[in-house]
Amino acid sequence: MAPKRPGGPPPRRHGKATRATEAGRDPFANFGIVNPPVYHASTVLFPTVAEMERISRAPFDHVYYGRQGTPTTFAFEKAVAELEGGHRAVATGSGLAAIAATLMAFLRAGDHLLMVDSAYSPTRKLCDGLLLGFGVETTYYDPLMGAKIATLIRPDTRVVFCESPGSLTFEVQDIPAIARMAHAGGAVVVLDNSWATPLLFEPFAHGVDVVIEAGTKYLVGHSDAMIGAIITTEEHYRRVKTTAAILGAVPGPDDCYLALRGIRTLPVRLARHQETGLILARWLKRRREVARVLHPAFADCPGHRIWKRDFSGASGLFSIVLAKPYTKDALARMLDGMELFKMGYSWGGYESLILPADPSHFRTAVPWEAPGPLIRLHAGLEDPDDLIADLEAGFRRLARA
Ligand SMILES: *Cc1c(COP(=O)(O)O)cnc(C)c1O
Repeated sequence: MAPKRPGGPPPRRHGKATRATEAGRDPFANFGIVNPPVYHASTVLFPTVAEMERISRAPFDHVYYGRQGTPTTFAFEKAVAELEGGHRAVATGSGLAAIAATLMAFLRAGDHLLMVDSAYSPTRKLCDGLLLGFGVETTYYDPLMGAKIATLIRPDTRVVFCESPGSLTFEVQDIPAIARMAHAGGAVVVLDNSWATPLLFEPFAHGVDVVIEAGTKYLVGHSDAMIGAIITTEEHYRRVKTTAAILGAVPGPDDCYLALRGIRTLPVRLARHQETGLILARWLKRRREVARVLHPAFADCPGHRIWKRDFSGASGLFSIVLAKPYTKDALARMLDGMELFKMGYSWGGYESLILPADPSHFRTAVPWEAPGPLIRLHAGLEDPDDLIADLEAGFRRLARA
């Protein structure tokens, strides 16, 4: 069986749910079996010297060596590139590996990076540690500054990194305005699109050059695999693929398979995450313990107007800010006793999660100010009434504390 090559312009004839079921599949290349097989491979054999030389000249287009990907990896990459509307995708061993490979692809010693202040916190650690040590300077910018980002762009600014909505605080960024300014200044626009997934925001239609997905979250959807993807325009593919390949942080074939399987049900899962998230957010908005609900679909969430303009929906991850300070013990009493909302990092799986967080520890461009603690919630696929009862009991414990 000849392995199918990724690449080519994505077919846009069908709707997104149809594309999620079709993307990256080629059953009749494999006995008619619906899903692509899991290929475990390191060594790939060449029948002749001539064949080895031919394949080595275009290693990204062939099954060549396990680290360059197997047909299972290619099927995942093809599916993600098609859904995202990009030229091609590069699979990585985690979302963070995708971020690291992308930044290292474009930045060299002496370069300047503009990083959104609401970025996922390991992304910040990468900038403040490894990249700083390599001579790359990072400036954090206000997620809400839009076209005013032009004032921060310097001749040595190579990358403008966006994450919209932002981690923990959910500010929605004006990506088209930022992209216009970045491109005028000769910088590449990178977007972490993990919250929206390709279903709710189309980065390439809004001026983004390189897209990152933490596939670990909604693509996998079942909290049982780590994977990332970098999706690029044609112009940037080679540079990104070459860097990711040399960093060597590749996903195993089983995880590619799980992510691909997750993609088939992403549209139905995401619709339910959105629906339950909104039910919970509306209920929380009416509670006197809650000062603010940080959910892009709410009119008072920073950037809501842009969310309405650019996004086609919301996922199930949002935060609340409590109305007054609480002691650590009081918060612990609320959170330790939750029955359905479990505490743990990550999100995007079928289960509901709850996590206390304090953005004031790392926000630098715009200091974080809030009357009380921030709590991040992920609305899972449970019955919304059960989740509300769980939260209500939690607030009772908080009041008692
Ligand atoms: C979790 C996350 C990542 C990193 O993904 P991993 O697969 O956990 O490395 C990147 N960006 C955002 C916004 C995330 O929430």
